[in-house]
Amino acid sequence: PPLYMQRYQFVIDYVKTYRPKKVIDFGCAECFLLKKLKFHRNGIQLLVGVDLNSVVLLKRMHTLAPLISDYLQPSDGPLTIELYQGSVTEREPCTRGFDLVTCVELIEHLELVEVARFSEVVFGFMAPGAVIVSTPNAEFNPLLPGLRGFRNHDHKFEWTRAEFQTWAHKVCKDYGYTVQFTGVGEAVGHWREVGFCTQIAVFQRNFHDSMSNAERLEPSVYRLMYKVVY
Ligand code: SAM
Repeated sequence: PPLYMQRYQFVIDYVKTYRPKKVIDFGCAECFLLKKLKFHRNGIQLLVGVDLNSVVLLKRMHTLAPLISDYLQPSDGPLTIELYQGSVTEREPCTRGFDLVTCVELIEHLELVEVARFSEVVFGFMAPGAVIVSTPNAEFNPLLPGLRGFRNHDHKFEWTRAEFQTWAHKVCKDYGYTVQFTGVGEAVGHWREVGFCTQIAVFQRNFHDSMSNAERLEPSVYRLMYKVVY
């Protein structure tokens, strides 16, 4: 399967194993991952997507609308889906208390000063139970045919494994998380040494608290674009 599908599948497998109830996808763009998570619910009760770009949300949000089959098949309890226009560098109180935050191919679109704010907002302020972050592995780039510079013109950086791990370990130290590294897309033969094409960090919060049962606040910073309950 193509690389982007492997990234989504990684998140779906994680959800299958750890069964988070409240999930937020940062940089949800065309809502592809949200749509997949809606299909592979595995007990998710609240699914939130956030993107800076309201145009892309407006264009694709209808794909999250319930299908007739959603009403015919008995589901495992109500599911709420919300889409917001907002930035991952802003503190939005209604995003606290989630079980899982996913950031698939997002951080490399932020300036490094924004990455620092993102880290504080996500790990310090939102403090979810787990965070999945994926980003390109710069060490894999020589294997990509015809590539000059970054993989996308909007990327502000592409990190080596050491750079990604340095950032992740600092986040763990500052905010009390434990991290494990993996990835998707492997080269063959001796090229395997360059690591995965997409590197992935999976963070788990060290201390358990019951914030996840706290009452949900109304959004005050993000702009609600779409909401459906089924
Ligand atoms: N996660 C999706 C995927 O894997 O298919 C899309 C990733 S796309 C490469 C990056 C997305 O991040 C874009 O939709 C962009 O609008 C969004 N983005 C960039 N900066 C952002 C920010 N500060 N806050 C929220 N979203 C942001």
